[in-house]
Amino acid sequence: MADASVNPSLTPQPGHLYVVATPIGNLADLTERARAILGSVDLIACEDTRTTGGLLTRYGLRRDLIAYHDHNEIEVAERLADQLAAGKSIAVVSDAGTPAISDPGFRLVRACHRRGLQVVPVPGACAVAAVLSASGLPTNGFLFAGFLVAKTAARTAFLEKYRDFEFTLALYESCHRIDKFAVEIVEKLGPDRVICIAREVTKLHETFLIGRAADVRDRLLKGSLKGEFVVLIAPADFVL
Ligand code: SAM
Repeated sequence: MADASVNPSLTPQPGHLYVVATPIGNLADLTERARAILGSVDLIACEDTRTTGGLLTRYGLRRDLIAYHDHNEIEVAERLADQLAAGKSIAVVSDAGTPAISDPGFRLVRACHRRGLQVVPVPGACAVAAVLSASGLPTNGFLFAGFLVAKTAARTAFLEKYRDFEFTLALYESCHRIDKFAVEIVEKLGPDRVICIAREVTKLHETFLIGRAADVRDRLLKGSLKGEFVVLIAPADFVL
């Protein structure tokens, strides 16, 4: 690892919030800069102190941790902004990937901007970017819609609204609904729509299913539905 003391971009500055991406599966995907920042900030705000504690241990790092998650985000964001304003350096991480992307982080970042505090991204793994980059579906533009709500009517409305969207659609989906979602895509957008369903990216069972929606659905339903999934839907006129 580079010596943080001779490289200012690896040295946390007082009053700065660092938004640090962590691996989405493969622990080798933590960047050198992320390691340096996580190893030397005054405080790390994290979704789950056990998960982040484990990551730090893996790299031989020890830092003070504070829980910052969906249930305390509003209150803790203001407290952390107070500490930043008092000159502390803080990193925010989520359990995996890039904070604030379908994960806590947005409220803290906004609280910092409202007070004129510096916010510094330390980029790295992000599931949607990883899947787009390796999918072969159009990447000149895309709409990332995060997780769809569970209600069938809302999911159907989403697919109908974006049926003729000119760019690729990108979504996160839970393992409990991925089978149903694949069936819904075929029903609402037709069997020939090109889609990609990626599972367990950067992990041992990484799988990319790419092709006609009906074929991808059939292959998905024959395999394991455990793990984490990203779904891409190509524009209607796209052919592989
Ligand atoms: N902040 C994260 C990021 O930058 O990608 C996303 C966190 S969100 C709570 C978790 C969802 O991201 C999962 O349910 C799945 O849809 C997607 N995801 C995260 N890691 C993944 C992986 N290794 N393979 C496939 N999808 C993944």
